[in-house]
Amino acid sequence: MTPVVEVVGARKSFGAMVAVDNVDMTLLPGKITGLIGPNGSGKSTLVDLMSGLQRLDAGEIRHGMVRLNRMAPQEIARLGVVRTFQTTRVFSQLTVMQNLLVASPDENRAAHFINFLKLGRVRDAAAGGLSYGQQKLVELGTVLMLNPKVILLDEPGAGINPALLDEVKSYIASLAESGIAILLVDHNVELIRELCSELIAMDAGRVVASGSPSSVLASASVQEAYLGG
Ligand code: ADP
Ligand code: MG
Repeated sequence: MTPVVEVVGARKSFGAMVAVDNVDMTLLPGKITGLIGPNGSGKSTLVDLMSGLQRLDAGEIRHGMVRLNRMAPQEIARLGVVRTFQTTRVFSQLTVMQNLLVASPDENRAAHFINFLKLGRVRDAAAGGLSYGQQKLVELGTVLMLNPKVILLDEPGAGINPALLDEVKSYIASLAESGIAILLVDHNVELIRELCSELIAMDAGRVVASGSPSSVLASASVQEAYLGG
């Protein structure tokens, strides 16, 4: 299977601190790759690098034949590599429908995704007034409007209630079934186990384990990282 995104030797420092240190990663169409690691281990910075919000110090990020290294976030998004944010970003003053239309002005598509994400009842409500979990769904909706080939999900399950988490789980699974490559950054081990075919664990900027979710979760380096070793 041809990778849809390849990260090779990615490195990013902030001052003296190496946030992402020689990281490799491959995302495959239709596959969900998990990314775990303690707070501050570099997960969001890696997503920032892949989505063009930060510049690599070294290494490469490829999307097919295209190098994403020096591209602006909107160019990368236009190629179909899109992300969500750990701290959800929606246009508070705009309605749910308007938020989706900002991403792409196709009302039929927007209606389709609003329906898919069960946001029909709030489609004309201001996004800022919705629950945190529903705002995360609105953000996912805007991402889907961009017709993505790759979705980078930075903690989609954080801070949302268990019932909504079940829904989010099914949305992620069905997006992967449609052929989209997904990077799932999350702390929820159950979510990771259920969804991911491949798991990468980071600690202090480095990949400390990768492989099947069960092998990575059982690995000594992951146990150590989480127990503060
Ligand atoms: P994670 O998402 O795994 O919690 P982050 O990627 O957010 O980790 O952060 C990794 C490290 O890089 C942290 O020490 C964080 O403080 C630092 N960092 C992240 N972004 C910046 C930035 N824009 N400027 C300076 N330091 C940053
Ligand atoms: Mg983070």
